[in-house]
Amino acid sequence: MSSSGGIQIPGRLPLLLTQEGVLLPGSTMRLSVDTPRNMQLVRSRLLRGTSLKSTIIGVIPNTRDPEHEADELPTLHSIGTAGLAVQVVGSNWPKPHYTLLITGVCRFRVSSLLKQRPFALAEVEQLDKLEELTSTEEVTAEDGELQELSQRFYQAALQLVGMLDMSVPVVAKLRRLLDSLPRETLPDVVASMIRATNKEKLQVLDAVSLEERFKKTLPLLTRQIEGLKLLQKTRSPRPDDEKRVFSVRKGAVFPGRQFSLDEEGEDEDGDDTAALERKVHRANMPEAALKVCVKELKRLKKMPQSMPEYALTRNYLDLMVELPWSKSTKDCLDIQAARILLDNDHYAMDKLKRRVLEYLAVRQLKASLKGPILCFVGPPGVGKTSVGRSIARTLGREFHRIALGGVCDQSDIRGHRRTYVGSMPGRIINGLKTVGVNNPVFLLDEVDKLGKSLQGDPAAALLEVLDPEQNHSFTDHYLNVAFDLSQVLFIATANTTATIPPALLDRMEVLQVPGYTQEEKVEIAHRHLIPNQLEQHGLTPQQLQIPQDSTQEVITRYTREAGVRSLERKIGAICRAVAVKVAEGQKVTKPEEPVPASPVQAQGEMAAPPEMPIVIDHIALKDILGPPLFDMEVSERLTLPGVALGLAWTPLGGEIMFVEASRTEGEGQLTLTGQLGDVMKESAHLAISWLRANAKRYRLTNMVGGPDPMEGTDIHLHFPAGAVTKDGPSAGVTIVTCLASLFSSRLVRSDIAMTGEITLRGLVLPVGGIKDKVLAAHRAGVKRVILPKRNEKDLEELPANVRAELDFITATNLDEVLNAAFDGGFPGTASTHTHPQLLSKL
Ligand code: ADP
Repeated sequence: MSSSGGIQIPGRLPLLLTQEGVLLPGSTMRLSVDTPRNMQLVRSRLLRGTSLKSTIIGVIPNTRDPEHEADELPTLHSIGTAGLAVQVVGSNWPKPHYTLLITGVCRFRVSSLLKQRPFALAEVEQLDKLEELTSTEEVTAEDGELQELSQRFYQAALQLVGMLDMSVPVVAKLRRLLDSLPRETLPDVVASMIRATNKEKLQVLDAVSLEERFKKTLPLLTRQIEGLKLLQKTRSPRPDDEKRVFSVRKGAVFPGRQFSLDEEGEDEDGDDTAALERKVHRANMPEAALKVCVKELKRLKKMPQSMPEYALTRNYLDLMVELPWSKSTKDCLDIQAARILLDNDHYAMDKLKRRVLEYLAVRQLKASLKGPILCFVGPPGVGKTSVGRSIARTLGREFHRIALGGVCDQSDIRGHRRTYVGSMPGRIINGLKTVGVNNPVFLLDEVDKLGKSLQGDPAAALLEVLDPEQNHSFTDHYLNVAFDLSQVLFIATANTTATIPPALLDRMEVLQVPGYTQEEKVEIAHRHLIPNQLEQHGLTPQQLQIPQDSTQEVITRYTREAGVRSLERKIGAICRAVAVKVAEGQKVTKPEEPVPASPVQAQGEMAAPPEMPIVIDHIALKDILGPPLFDMEVSERLTLPGVALGLAWTPLGGEIMFVEASRTEGEGQLTLTGQLGDVMKESAHLAISWLRANAKRYRLTNMVGGPDPMEGTDIHLHFPAGAVTKDGPSAGVTIVTCLASLFSSRLVRSDIAMTGEITLRGLVLPVGGIKDKVLAAHRAGVKRVILPKRNEKDLEELPANVRAELDFITATNLDEVLNAAFDGGFPGTASTHTHPQLLSKL
């Protein structure tokens, strides 16, 4: 059949090679174009062309691998469809491509290929007649058989449409088309709409003669009808209801897709907006959010899928339907059970546990508690996170940890506006999505480490999250609708309150979680850490035993911390080493090694059957953990005049701190080293001034025995551990003691540590962090601690055993300090007559 009369397509057509499907005349199809040749074609023929002719292109199905297309044009399918590009959309995301909307016009045959680059261009022969008004009679009159075929086809098509739900627009359209279109075009139109493979469609395309085309398409149509009948039988209980119940989605009659008759309309390659729509309505969201979703859905439906905007909107809607707008868990709070659970999970920390129970009890009595937010403050590894987790468990709530350390951009909390690719919701909304309920326990970890930057202040954003007056309508920038956070239980943790923004601190109730004593650590290790680690490493107590002595040694010689984190790590290391030995069927200590005195070990060694547990003794410890990292150094280092032991507080807990001083001939200069802050430097100057002023009374001398200790003398004060920045006023008394020792050539007592701020008049002022400092002194084996009189009340917080094992000396002035710091008192102090108060063991 050659072209005669009617509309003519150009004799030369640029060829678009498609992978995705077969375009048939009379149907419209969306094509994604990304190969270089096709892109070039779009650019030079469709984007620049102005006349109608230039927008007609030849679409040739390419059944070959597109990889080859780049260099050599594959052998082309000889028949294609001339198509009219109705829409061209370009995008760079995720890679450069165009999306074309093309309507098939008529078949053509490639006569000869004119050129291959930059895109294929061919001489073509038009195969289908394109008459504007083709009467059906004309066709049928020609041939009786064809007429019959066409009639059968028409009837079958009618039957198919009759089985579908007319309320679906596409079905209604097909019904109209059946009557208005010339019969000869029906095979193409119907074939493009019903379920058929690309191969079958290719056969329809290749059927140039009308008769053959009817013959090829009719079986496809019949197959579809039979399939539908079968489905209806199994699905519809009452035949009367068939049509009503039966709904076919819009996409169902699009080219290349199946009739999906599942009422749920489950997802099928992307066009699942209907499913999404149902989810939106089921998500139980508040009015405002629903409105936004419905609007976005409308937009989504109009968008081509390949538009980047589509993915953005889609992601947004997916998030919206996933958020737990009204899903929550039921609180199952029983204070008795909570107490048991907290006790079982955590050893010691009684004060904290008591306060947490109070908090929970109030919650139980008053369902909607708008109380303050609990904030656990303490060194790392003291169980802040783990208490948070226990709280969630006692309430039966979901738990989610949000790490805030280093967050310096407010959009981390509040999300990015949905205006650019890659925008996403903030951590709060993300957390809610993760837990899937709207009343979880959120642990805001490390609120003291929030940063600040040009991108706004995250603390301000956090304030909005935590403030009970505001957080019922928290608006994430990405969501852009309010989410009610009032059911979320927030708990914060921090190492220090000093760096928590004041406004934030104001909203929180601070609960101090101080470090542990040796004894507490041993208990924690044996009750919790060791059993946990054994389990994690797949070991049993029958395989590995760590006696108390060894735990004690790990604590004192391999760790120096307020919490138990590195202790846990060391135990982990032991477990790993033993796991290897167990796997190898060997023991850690070889029999020929000297048997240590540990009774358990001795027993094990005597019997030494291979299935005896591996007992971790002193030697095994050394084998596994290496030589001890810390040794008791206090008494060793206090053997020269000009050394004193202070106590410092750091966010990581208390620390002992040596102060060293030396003097050389010079001009009365003071050198300070060891990374000191300004406050510390001032303390040093204060100390020197006070000692100079009282030199005579104290009988202090300079290097040549003169009465002014600074005369002809340079002083060097050093605070070892120079890598750590130190600041704070509490080293005042230590510096005075250290210098007094230097100027009097007397030794400071080797078992004493001290803390306290000084004034120019020699008074001792109270300082913070007493509990942590005393614990550090206790850890370091110190026996006596000097502290300001006004800090006496802080001692009550100490565990009884620590109080029993230490002597405390409280001082109101420097005379009392010096008197206590030196054996036999200090010469010239007022208190040689009135002894400083040595508190009886509390
Ligand atoms: P933090 O959050 O304070 O840094 P974690 O909660 O992560 O510390 O605690 C570190 C580890 O120590 C956890 O395995 C925890 O279970 C354990 N732990 C800390 N304190 C205790 C305690 N009092 N009783 C039992 N285990 C504890």
